[in-house]
Amino acid sequence: MIPVTKTFLPPQDQYQAILKLAWDSGWITNRGILVNELEAKLKDYLKVKHIIATTNGTLPLQIAIKALKLTGEIITTPFSYVATTSSIVWEGCTPVFVDIHPDYLTIDDTKIEAAITPKTSAILATHVYGNPCAIEAIDTIAKKHSLSVIYDAAHCFGVTYKGQSIFNYGDVSTCSFHATKVFHTGEGGAMFTHDRSLLNTLFYHHNFGHKGEETFQGIGINAKMSEPQAAMGLAVLPYMDNLLKQRQQVVDRYNKAFMFTGLQTLSIREDVQWNYSYYPIIFEDEGQLLKVLEILHKAYIYPRRYFYPSLHTLNYVEKSVCPISESIASRVLCLPLYPDLKQDDQERIIKLLKEAL
Ligand SMILES: *Cc1c(COP(=O)(O)O)cnc(C)c1O
Repeated sequence: MIPVTKTFLPPQDQYQAILKLAWDSGWITNRGILVNELEAKLKDYLKVKHIIATTNGTLPLQIAIKALKLTGEIITTPFSYVATTSSIVWEGCTPVFVDIHPDYLTIDDTKIEAAITPKTSAILATHVYGNPCAIEAIDTIAKKHSLSVIYDAAHCFGVTYKGQSIFNYGDVSTCSFHATKVFHTGEGGAMFTHDRSLLNTLFYHHNFGHKGEETFQGIGINAKMSEPQAAMGLAVLPYMDNLLKQRQQVVDRYNKAFMFTGLQTLSIREDVQWNYSYYPIIFEDEGQLLKVLEILHKAYIYPRRYFYPSLHTLNYVEKSVCPISESIASRVLCLPLYPDLKQDDQERIIKLLKEAL
């Protein structure tokens, strides 16, 4: 069986040697030595100013909305994983969907201003598949209308834009370290900001609002990363450079195979060092996609329809019109992509796909 992705597991003895440090300290959560060490190492590896490790990549979105005191309407992308939209609704705000760019697949910055109303408080956009949004344009619009900017950068571990970490952009950026993502801690995530006072607010929100043992700065939730999660991260991190190189090789082979087929693949924005996180193929129509899917399933190959359905069609959001997102979502398939995907297997996927067309 060939899945869409496969979790990289470090040698078990290395994981256990790190975990032993937590055992020896008798301290397995509440920001012990391993969480602190992981944060320090990630700060260095990613070259970010501040980081708070969290227990997943969804709570940071909700905490960011809370910390920025957002209310009313939040402009967002319909083409992302459901957590982007659900976080907005969960925090009592209304998502306002702006359609996506047909090649970059991120929110279409030229359509944002038309969606701004007196109730708009922020833009929450996803750097989908690790492909950055139109960061400068979004920044200009946000400044002009005094809006906050949150980036769901769940797919972006290791991505840089104009030479610096993608996590350095926006008021808050978030990442997911889920087992299916490029870097993982099993379940996990992080939030990033360059603003010290916002960092402070994010920090107390992620730990019940604690200011000390018996005082509370305000409302909070529990989004703390645990020591076993951090141990996994510390065991995976030394392999990251190599894992990214292996991913690049797989992507290069797909690119070469699909170059003259007329199939649409992802256009990466300029000035970006990408992380080879996903390999989306956009078919001519949904019928073609379903045909390919059936043929691959028969060969025990399981690509995934990331991201379907378009989020503006969810049953808990107000109806809106996003024809590009709806069309792309119905035609996009992510092919298997993971560091040790064997060349033979990959060639089989390519051959079956080409024959199906
Ligand atoms: C994976 C993902 C999330 C959620 O992250 P978890 O760590 O699974 O909570 C949020 N947004 C996007 C775009 C994702 O792909």
